[in-house]
Amino acid sequence: MILAVTMNPSVDISYPLSHLKLNDVNRIKSVQKTAGGKGLNVARVIKQMGEDVITTGVLGGTTGEFICQELIKMNIKNEFLKINQESRNCIAILHENMQTEILEAGPTLGFEESDAFLEKFRRLLGKVSSVTISGSLPSGLPTDFYFQMLKISKSEDIPVIIDTSGEALRQVLIHEAKPLAIKPNISELSQLLGVEVGSDVKSLKLALDHELFKGIEWIVVSMGSDGAFVRHGGDYYQVMIPKINVVNPVGSGDATVAGLACALKRNQPIETVMKTAMTTGMLNTMESSTGSINRLKFEEYYCLVKLEKID
Ligand code: ATP
Repeated sequence: MILAVTMNPSVDISYPLSHLKLNDVNRIKSVQKTAGGKGLNVARVIKQMGEDVITTGVLGGTTGEFICQELIKMNIKNEFLKINQESRNCIAILHENMQTEILEAGPTLGFEESDAFLEKFRRLLGKVSSVTISGSLPSGLPTDFYFQMLKISKSEDIPVIIDTSGEALRQVLIHEAKPLAIKPNISELSQLLGVEVGSDVKSLKLALDHELFKGIEWIVVSMGSDGAFVRHGGDYYQVMIPKINVVNPVGSGDATVAGLACALKRNQPIETVMKTAMTTGMLNTMESSTGSINRLKFEEYYCLVKLEKID
């Protein structure tokens, strides 16, 4: 079983409009509401890949209840810490080929909630063989919160894959309890290192040689339609993918994390791990709903992923 963590889940609401009128009334005919948050995308794809998954994090109020109900409908186990505050709504207005987003910050957590969650997390580790942690931290939690979760996982010998950015990622990398894998994209990598990292092999290799990545077994730098650049231990790989028909690329990074988690959990060879992660990422872009794949297309696209080891 894999534990997928989303500390600040949301109800994602999409409002399609032919034209957005400012300072006026906009009436919406069809509303789509889904359980959102990066870790929930990861969980859905893990489930679609045929692995058992538990979702956790912090939620509350009627929005929190909606998220739980959506997970139940998908037959995904949920073990969230319930709080008195309301979970957030994230609104996307789709208009004139543009997407205008209105994102609530969500609840602010205090010491009590933070301790209660860490205790819950420790207990859940007894049921799983690996963990994925995705997305940003809710306000009120210290920037080293993911490191605290890593320390607990390390003490239970449970490997962790982390997909976060900014200071939360830096804190994970500077401390001694290391994740098994991280999955930055190029802009997150550039932000972390404070330099513009190019997408050529030389720049990527130089970037991943940085002191900050010492001790991280897997670094998967996802590069959208350009596939990925991977460091595994001391080896570097360029992972190439075919040109495909993209319907909705949102959540592809999360689907990549899901593929990575499934292949690592199955102890598959390193080539299979990289190809699986790329395939789930690609399959996500081919579906209209975010964080979802068609498992029946897996073999066809897996065969089209090519690897090149860099000397
Ligand atoms: P997000 O934040 O939306 O989850 P990300 O920036 O973390 O995305 P990307 O690098 O865009 O992640 O995509 C992850 C993987 O998904 C890629 O490595 C690739 O396998 C697949 N992918 C994404 N976009 C495309 C695309 N346009 N064509 C083909 N594959 C894609």
